[in-house]
Amino acid sequence: MAEFSLALNDDQLQLKDWVHQFAVDTIRPAAHEWDEKEEFPWPVVQEAAKIGLYGLDFIMNAMADPSGLTMVVAIEEMFWGDAGIGMAIMGSGLAAAGIAGNGTPEQMMEWVPQCYGTPDDVKLGAFCVSEPDAGSDVSNLRTRAIYDEANDEWVLNGTKAWITNGGIANVHVVVAAVDPELKGRGQASFVIPPGTKGLSQGQKYLKHGIRASHTAEVVLDNVRVPGRCLLGGKEKLDAKLARYREGTSSGKQPAMATFEATRPAVGAQALALHAQRMSTHLTMQKSVTRSASRSS
Ligand SMILES: Cc1cc2nc3c(=O)[nH]c(=O)nc-3n(C[C@H](O)[C@H](O)[C@H](O)COP(=O)(O)OP(=O)(O)OC[C@H]3O[C@@H](n4cnc5c(N)ncnc54)[C@H](O)[C@@H]3O)c2cc1C
Repeated sequence: MAEFSLALNDDQLQLKDWVHQFAVDTIRPAAHEWDEKEEFPWPVVQEAAKIGLYGLDFIMNAMADPSGLTMVVAIEEMFWGDAGIGMAIMGSGLAAAGIAGNGTPEQMMEWVPQCYGTPDDVKLGAFCVSEPDAGSDVSNLRTRAIYDEANDEWVLNGTKAWITNGGIANVHVVVAAVDPELKGRGQASFVIPPGTKGLSQGQKYLKHGIRASHTAEVVLDNVRVPGRCLLGGKEKLDAKLARYREGTSSGKQPAMATFEATRPAVGAQALALHAQRMSTHLTMQKSVTRSASRSS
């Protein structure tokens, strides 16, 4: 087994410098404006797409890094620039991770690129788990998906809360209960393709921080998606549910699989904010010391 190490290799050190420079040149100068506007910072995300920081190649490379450090290093630098803009750049990655964690290779090839678009035509993804009564407790989800066998379609109903890019994303990945009696084990993930009828944005949250990132409710009102939008496929889901009902498997929750892959990035965000505060504090301390020595 490889020895555990948090030391950055040459590629990761280069990446750190590259993202830091983007934060200095592009994120920080734009931070105040977009924080005040409380709107999604499209021009900044387009700039990130142009240099390859927002896009399919970046997310695939990050997901393929066996050390897991590529993503957290990039996030730490971006959030040092500004947490709201950092979240706007990284939000689609949650949807990509939800698809990669639960979908087939064919579903990944079809849907992950649509979460990003191209530098000239940037698209967004959203990962929808949380609900008004289910935050940390993902086993309590009320959003329901029912299979309509005659049409090979799934019908989804429910309300998702606190969703990054909710309602403005092109691709929404939704975790819903397919067998509520099985609680967290009776859930599955679905891709809701762009323009699907019945999906709408509910309230947009006005926040105290991370304000350039769009966070909103997502309302699902009789949303119908084709059978192929069930991530992992029906055969696999049926076999999994049968095992759970027989009690022969304890299984994994689709939402938890995605969180396990993405939660280290949330830790990196917190570290970045701490570093930002420390650098502001040091700058203030230096200027107080300078003016004190001038006046003495
Ligand atoms: C800016 C922002 C963006 C977000 N983006 C997304 C998104 O894109 N997709 C999405 O699905 N969700 C998103 N969320 C929601 C986020 O994942 C939830 O806020 C989070 O899961 C916590 O849920 P909650 O707010 O309901 O808190 P709660 O679950 O009510 O937890 C409140 C507190 O109680 C603690 N707690 C809860 N249960 C227990 C327990 N059993 N034992 C001990 N302590 C417990 C928690 O640790 C926490 O400190 C976002 C939230 C924010 C603020």
